[in-house]
Amino acid sequence: MPNIASIIKGHNKRISATLTSKEKEAYNCRKKDTCPLNGNCQASNIIYKAEVKTTDNCKTYIGLTEPPFKLRYGNHKMSLNHEKHQNATELSKHIWQLKQNNQPFTINWSIASRAKAYSNESKRCNLCLTEKLIIINADKRTLLNKRPELISKCRHENKFYINNSSPTTKHRQGNHTQLRSEHRRKAKTQQQNGRKREYTNSRTPKKVLQTTNRTDAKENTPQNNTPTTV
Ligand SMILES: [Zn+2]
Ligand SMILES: [Zn+2]
Repeated sequence: MPNIASIIKGHNKRISATLTSKEKEAYNCRKKDTCPLNGNCQASNIIYKAEVKTTDNCKTYIGLTEPPFKLRYGNHKMSLNHEKHQNATELSKHIWQLKQNNQPFTINWSIASRAKAYSNESKRCNLCLTEKLIIINADKRTLLNKRPELISKCRHENKFYINNSSPTTKHRQGNHTQLRSEHRRKAKTQQQNGRKREYTNSRTPKKVLQTTNRTDAKENTPQNNTPTTV
C-alpha cells in the first residue's frame, strides 16, 4: 500500500501548501504602495471588482480568478494599455471609450468575494457560482458585464479531464462506433445464416447480454492492437 499512502501524503501536503500560501499571500506582494489590491495581489480563488470612476459616473466590472490575482491583473493591464487588445473584456472596452473621449478616470480594484474553484471532491465550482450570484445582484445600470457571461460555462472543471480525456474519449468513441457497425454486420450475418429473426431481436436479457459480451471480447482484442489514427 505504499502508493495510496504517498498519494494521501501528497494530497495533504498540497492542501497545507495552499493554506499557508493563502495565509502568506499578503506578505508576497513586493510593491505594496502600488499594489492594485492593497498588498493582496497574490490572492487566489477570488471574485474581484473593478470600479471605474469618472467625474460623472462609476461603472463596475466583476471578474474571477483561480490563480493569483496578480496574473489576471497583468492581462487586464495589457488590454487597458494596448489598443489592439481593447476588445478583450467589457472593462477594456469601457476604458478605451473613456480614453477616446479624453475623459479622466480612476480604477479601484477590490476583492468582492472568495470561493473555491471546481475540485474533484466538491464536484461544483463555487467560484463561478459566486461570480454569477454577484453579477445577478449587481446594479444593472452601472454594471459593465454583459449577460452572456452568466451562461458561460465553467472553465475550471476542464483541467480535471485535459490530461487523459482527449485520446481516451476519442478511442472510446471510435470503439463504440466500430462496435455498433460490427454488431449490425454480425446481426445481418446471423440472419443470412438462417437464424430466426426472433433470436436476434430476442428480448431475453440473458441472450442479448451474451451476444454483446462475446462481440466485446472478440472485437476488443484486435482493436487494441490497431494504432488509433487521430
Ligand atoms: Zn500586490
Ligand atoms: Zn468555474
